[in-house]
Amino acid sequence: IDLNHSSNEYVAQQDLENVFHSWSVQGSLNPLVIKSGLGSKLWDFEGKEYLDFSSQLVNTNIGHQHPKVIAAIKAQADELITIAPATANLTRSLAAKKILELVSDHFKKIFFTNAGADANENAIRMARLFTGRDKVLSTYRSYHGNTGAAIVATGDARRQPNEYSRGHAHFFGPYLYRSEFHAENEAQESTRALQHLRRVIESEGASGIAAILLEGIPGTAGVLVPPAGYMQGVRALCDEFGIILIMDEVMSGFGRTGKWFAFEHHGITPDLITFAKGVNSGYVPVGGVIISEKICQHFHDKMFPGGLTYSGHPLAMASIVATIDTMREEGIIENAAQIGAEAIAPGLEALAQKHACIGNVRGVGVFWAMELVSDAAAKTPFTAAAMGEVKKALLAAGLLPFIADNRIHVVPPCNVSADDVQKALAIYDKVLSEVASQYVK
Ligand code: PLP
Repeated sequence: IDLNHSSNEYVAQQDLENVFHSWSVQGSLNPLVIKSGLGSKLWDFEGKEYLDFSSQLVNTNIGHQHPKVIAAIKAQADELITIAPATANLTRSLAAKKILELVSDHFKKIFFTNAGADANENAIRMARLFTGRDKVLSTYRSYHGNTGAAIVATGDARRQPNEYSRGHAHFFGPYLYRSEFHAENEAQESTRALQHLRRVIESEGASGIAAILLEGIPGTAGVLVPPAGYMQGVRALCDEFGIILIMDEVMSGFGRTGKWFAFEHHGITPDLITFAKGVNSGYVPVGGVIISEKICQHFHDKMFPGGLTYSGHPLAMASIVATIDTMREEGIIENAAQIGAEAIAPGLEALAQKHACIGNVRGVGVFWAMELVSDAAAKTPFTAAAMGEVKKALLAAGLLPFIADNRIHVVPPCNVSADDVQKALAIYDKVLSEVASQYVK
């Protein structure tokens, strides 16, 4: 392979010949080719520019190539590029301390993993060992990662061919637009979803349930912002039945919702918090579990049976320290909250008013979804073929979208500029008019 070769076709061809892709039929791939990036923008080898309104897999919360984070990774590489997890290392302690400073003093330590899936995997293990119970409840509309327990805790269709773990049961979380509970407003949806969860707990046997695993805001499942009262209700059920509440903040954490963590919007305190993605914008693979004092105490005189060669890898640790410092110094969390409220929310609402194909718009911060429907009254989702055409048109117009099922997720970096949001809104508007409108009955 000639690394100096610079054409989109050559790079795509080498990828197709050599790389086995995630979640794909290998013979029907058409990989996007990217040469470089900066902030909210990416470029291919022909100089075509894309506005990255996917943040890749909703992880580049501080945008591409942030110089302060890259400098920190380079400095750590020069000093000590790797060291075993059992070794005391100051950068690792500092990364843990910086994360602990973002949450209440109810939390005492961090267990570092390689990514989000194994963060959930280990949080589930901690909850099972702490409670002496086995079952884990999670929602059907969820994604928790692609490892043994995490993929079976996942509710979306990717779970079905992967059910090799035991002790998982699912329930429906709130989603007013397609309510499972015949609810007509948010308050009904919240009350009825909680009653349903109570029935699932009773039916599964409360004394056998170790944990409820919930995303701060279910992300890939559709940016399903929980109604007021729901999260508090889940916390109360966990307290009533002695169940550990694991909050999966892998996608919703580190600024995505305009706060450090999505659960802060509800004033609740989980028992375990899992994170990855935005903690360092994915510059080096990393994830982890934020552990409450009572669970730390449990393992004070009992072994935790788990570990990873790269737990607390120095390059990842340096990138976490620099990311959190940069987010604070540059007001990146505040930017996400403000741009969400002042530019994205009104911009998407205006699109929904104008385009019959937008059935529902929802979100907070820089975490939004537009649901495309061919019949607004029947809420008929756009087909995969129609969404494929919408995606193609958005790419052609210079916007890299995050598409899931019949939805366009609007998920730019947390430090996206107002100017880039306006450019993106104009591209969505054009593609909804010229392409998506054709699929409306
Ligand atoms: N949890 C949530 C909410 C996610 O969105 C994801 C990935 O998209 C994961 C867990 C898994 O993270 P990873 O792919 O880093 O293992």
